[in-house]
Amino acid sequence: MLKGNTKICSRCGDEKPVNEFYSQKGGRSGLRAACKKCFIKANSEYRYKRKSGVRFGSKDYFIELKQRKEAVQK
Ligand SMILES: [Zn+2]
Repeated sequence: MLKGNTKICSRCGDEKPVNEFYSQKGGRSGLRAACKKCFIKANSEYRYKRKSGVRFGSKDYFIELKQRKEAVQK
């Protein structure tokens, strides 16, 4: 998906300069698939969902953390 110094966001589909994307260690391109704007939006949606769902320190939370670590290692 990398094309010169731009990257297409997996969420909004817009082609944006790579500085519009957060870096991600272990990622294929070293960048997140979604742009900063979409990432922030997704993150706030995620937090909102977590309010009613997975709580910090709960069993599900640790399962999620473990899965995230495994994903980074790949
Ligand atoms: Zn986007």
